[in-house]
Amino acid sequence: MACPPKIMLVTGASRGIGAATARLAAAEGCDVAVNYRRDKAAADAVAADVERAGRRAVAVAADVAVEDDVERLFATVDARLGRLTHLVCNAGITGPLSRVDALPAKAAREVLDTNVLGAFLCARAAIARMSTRRGGAGGAMVFISSAMATLGGAGEYVMYAASKGAIESLSLGLARELAQEGVRCNVVEPGPIATGIHPPGRLEHITKAVPMGRPGTMEDVARAVLFLLSDQSSFTTGAVLRVAGGR
Ligand code: NDP
Repeated sequence: MACPPKIMLVTGASRGIGAATARLAAAEGCDVAVNYRRDKAAADAVAADVERAGRRAVAVAADVAVEDDVERLFATVDARLGRLTHLVCNAGITGPLSRVDALPAKAAREVLDTNVLGAFLCARAAIARMSTRRGGAGGAMVFISSAMATLGGAGEYVMYAASKGAIESLSLGLARELAQEGVRCNVVEPGPIATGIHPPGRLEHITKAVPMGRPGTMEDVARAVLFLLSDQSSFTTGAVLRVAGGR
């Protein structure tokens, strides 16, 4: 008997952790929707890699903080790939490096809109496709948080840390709300990962606090995400998996 298709959406998949997750998902047999905000060429390159792995792909521009964009994103996935079974809420921004007393409200709002509202909008649209209560076949979601959620980000990224704390609560609540509807929800909490999100010099600086003595790779995170999306973790929901080298 043929396995049902796995249809995955990764938000913010044009580069970094999202791109690595999209590529690994394809290698593990998923069709993948590659969401991005600005960099079409980078997203198209990730989609081409998914197709080279023998899976279907679509790259879709959408700002996850904008409700109409998210609705169009999911409608495009419906039309191009079919009914979604897996979601990775990865798109995220840090905002400027700043103490709280110097952070403009506009910058704080952008962080919360992208990281928290964006995760809510995507999760809500995914529930409508995955939940058995809504006629779906079940599925799984992973939210990319940060070790900052438990460290606080003092002097640098407190509102970013707060936004990651919020999505951890969102994931736990959703895990319990959807537990009998075939949908599992979990969090991956990365420590410092070598991507372009860091201002120059910051990755080297924060890596000094990592007991393993190195930053993580995008693939370190992608493997944890794929585990939590797979049937290997079938009794795991509402969990937080830290991928932070002991930090
Ligand atoms: P990058 O900055 O390398 O990539 C971010 C991705 O998100 C890009 O594809 C970008 O698209 C997309 N994106 C940003 N804003 C939006 C938006 N509003 N709508 C849609 N897409 C958007 O980041 P990382 O790969 O480093 O980070 C990925 C996730 O991991 C984030 O949530 C981050 O907070 C988290 N994380 C990262 C850590 C690290 O050390 N790198 C540590 C802990 C957590 P485009 O380029 O097209 O704008």
